[in-house]
Amino acid sequence: MDLTDQRPAAGPDTVVVVGGGLIGLCCAVQLLVAGEPVLLLDPGGDPPPPSWGNAGHIATECIEPLASWKTLREAPRQLYSAGGSLAFRPADLPAWLPFAARYLRACTAASYANGVAALDYLMADAMPAWKRLAALLGEPDLVRDHGHWVVYESARRCAAAGRGVGPIGSGHARCLPLDPGLLEALRTRVRPALAGGYAYEGTGQVRRPADVLDALRRRVRELGGSFRRGRAVRLAPGRGQHRLLLDDGTALEPRRLLIAAGAWSTGLMEDAGHHAPLIAERGYHIEAEAGDWADFPSVVFEDRSVVVTRFGERLRATSFVEFSRAESAPDAGKWQRLKAHVAALGVPLHGPITTWSGPRPTLPDYLPAIGASRRLSGLYYAFGHQHLGLTLAARTGELVAAVLRDPAGTARLAAFDIERFAS
Ligand SMILES: Cc1cc2nc3c(=O)[nH]c(=O)nc-3n(C[C@H](O)[C@H](O)[C@H](O)COP(=O)(O)OP(=O)(O)OC[C@H]3O[C@@H](n4cnc5c(N)ncnc54)[C@H](O)[C@@H]3O)c2cc1C
Repeated sequence: MDLTDQRPAAGPDTVVVVGGGLIGLCCAVQLLVAGEPVLLLDPGGDPPPPSWGNAGHIATECIEPLASWKTLREAPRQLYSAGGSLAFRPADLPAWLPFAARYLRACTAASYANGVAALDYLMADAMPAWKRLAALLGEPDLVRDHGHWVVYESARRCAAAGRGVGPIGSGHARCLPLDPGLLEALRTRVRPALAGGYAYEGTGQVRRPADVLDALRRRVRELGGSFRRGRAVRLAPGRGQHRLLLDDGTALEPRRLLIAAGAWSTGLMEDAGHHAPLIAERGYHIEAEAGDWADFPSVVFEDRSVVVTRFGERLRATSFVEFSRAESAPDAGKWQRLKAHVAALGVPLHGPITTWSGPRPTLPDYLPAIGASRRLSGLYYAFGHQHLGLTLAARTGELVAAVLRDPAGTARLAAFDIERFAS
């Protein structure tokens, strides 16, 4: 990651943002726009985080939290051992078993309905927020709102998915049968006989996740923000000033700090007295030259849970949800499985194939945590964006800036209060 390895000090008014992924960067930009001095802390290094390795899809259609009985009913068919995309890393059972217990509690009808309303509230302005941010970054073409396609090999599953045709949530997205001409164009490019598919409107993609990160970092610098390379290892709350200990033995002493460290946010939140039961949902991608793959929008091959997205001259295929610890090693077998799917689909990946894996930060109710701490003055948080961190990053940045301006004025964020996990 391109972070200048300098050691700027944090002045008393500086907001220290812990985590330089999409969420931390979007928050940093909006805080700077609001006139707040910002220092952004991130260790950088390899592999880059999910903010870099994601599928690039602005998934405004996703207003149903995955904490649901519907997801549970489908889980056995989705298991990796049964050829699906859902895996549980046995060695990490102590991490995902307690998560599973909380997840089950979040699947109740009331919790699910609350989750749908909360996600719809965020999604309704997610695409406009991306367009505002792209304009602010001076790169309106970073965001493409050309929708995406979901296609099926199984006629039965395709017919069942037809029940979702129509407007989504408050109407910010829409699902339609895929135009026969476009379906035919895709059929000529892939090997399996596609039974059918659907086109989504109001959704889209970014030009390239790495371009978004570069543009955000550039804007942070232009707006006077600074970067510091380092990992926060402990937070010692103080009366007015807090002490943030870094892995190089030094410390920062900010009055205000924002925890936006993705799947790595738990420890620092616990230091502040908060319970943040994150699980790492590891995902995988493979990528190579796109060759003659047409300029289709993102295509979800639903029966295989594989998303294929073109980023310029490159084609990226993503898949898998592997419940694990953030620091666990990836499973090379998953890249092999992904390569096998891509080969079976006939999707062209030319030249050397690169591989990547990283953890989605997920809370048991599949809602993010966004807000101001009610336990520690000056502590703010924005993490837990699960499968939707790219989609919700621009909106989150704006909301966090609003929270810092007026913590009491953000009643609509009650569903994202970390205190929901206090008991
Ligand atoms: C395969 C895959 C595909 C995905 N596709 C999509 C998609 O199409 N659309 C979508 O909306 N979402 C997608 N996601 C989810 C999305 O990528 C994540 O939700 C998002 O990246 C979370 O952003 P973040 O900034 O919270 O965390 P991260 O991207 O994990 O960034 C966290 C940052 O914090 C830093 N950090 C960690 N610990 C510390 C510390 N102690 N001190 C300082 N810094 C620290 C890390 O170095 C990192 O830079 C996908 C995820 C995966 C894995």
